Amino acid sequence: MTIRVAINGYGTIGKRVADAVAAQNDMEIVGVTKTRPSFGCDLAVRKGYPLFCTFDDADRIAAFAKSGYDCHGGISDLLSLCDVVVDCSPGKVGSANKDLYNMAGVKWIFQGGEKHEMTELSYTSCANHQQNLNAQGTRVVSCNTTGLARTLVPLLETCGDISVECTMIRRAADPGDSSKGPINAIKPVLKVPSHHGPDLMTVEPKIKINSLAVAVPTTIMHTHAITVTLPQGHGLDTEKVLALWRSRPRIIIMNGAETGITTTAEVMEFARDIGRTWGDLHEIFVWEDGVKVVDNTLYYFQAIHQESDVVPENVDAIRALMGSESDWLASVEKTDNAISQAQA
Ligand code: NAD
Repeated sequence: MTIRVAINGYGTIGKRVADAVAAQNDMEIVGVTKTRPSFGCDLAVRKGYPLFCTFDDADRIAAFAKSGYDCHGGISDLLSLCDVVVDCSPGKVGSANKDLYNMAGVKWIFQGGEKHEMTELSYTSCANHQQNLNAQGTRVVSCNTTGLARTLVPLLETCGDISVECTMIRRAADPGDSSKGPINAIKPVLKVPSHHGPDLMTVEPKIKINSLAVAVPTTIMHTHAITVTLPQGHGLDTEKVLALWRSRPRIIIMNGAETGITTTAEVMEFARDIGRTWGDLHEIFVWEDGVKVVDNTLYYFQAIHQESDVVPENVDAIRALMGSESDWLASVEKTDNAISQAQA
């Protein structure tokens, strides 16, 4: 069976998820939405994705034809064609779409800008794929939470109990976003803990975690500074932690001193060098020489490409909701192989 997927909101995340879905041999894109005719429509047309309007309003639909785009209808027309809709609308906007999806009888996936309380279920492949099997809908957690899960879930599975303190050093805005700041300041999140760490507990409640967050004037990546308290008798040392992460998918470990990749700028340049579309890096990047176990404490840094680490997670979440792959590792392998073949 080919799973028919709609993308509602063809922006930063939506355009990437559309390509990742289109690369899979068990899924197809039946359409993507734009709110109005704008330059993003050209990309959808070039990719061959049928274009729909985010709204059912006849005037808004007609506006596409006036700008030379072939619009196939409104959101209700698109929902009538799909099995699952991936809502990639801006944060906190998506919840208004949930009733529409339920009325159309389609499965739905929201993104990390929406609240767990709205979806009542969240998703990260390495943490809770099984819990999401055959569910009506879910929320793929944010880029930061996804990054935390990738490295912390394997530690929890190995040690049985961990507690975590982390500081999220966040990019101020995405590269294509001219409306956000700060431009020349460091902006702390004046809420303690920030939502990031506790959000991880929506997919893995056994991890005890608190986080602080600051936004800094960069557009390219987030960096996490993480301290993990390991239980007595944990049996891990620095090399064993690195070996554990190397055995897991979607984590890249490189030595900063040896490679010269010592900042997020070089990490992004590396992603461009290896030919990733848009210079994306779906993997979490860990600096080998920034990892250290001292007694019962593990220290490390990791970098998150905010625009793309959640992209393959959406593909896995589709398989979970559709019940078409119950093994998270099998889904991850299938997803990642198909994406890399499409980019080759
Ligand atoms: P974006 O602003 O780049 O794209 C959103 C798209 O949705 C735009 O094309 C917009 O026109 C469209 N839209 C506006 N109103 C809509 C509506 N009512 N219904 C459907 N679509 C509508 O936003 P984004 O960065 O792609 O973020 C999408 C979601 O992904 C948010 O929940 C965000 O928190 C989450 N997310 C973003 C990032 C990131 O770094 N950009 C990372 C992880 C998760």
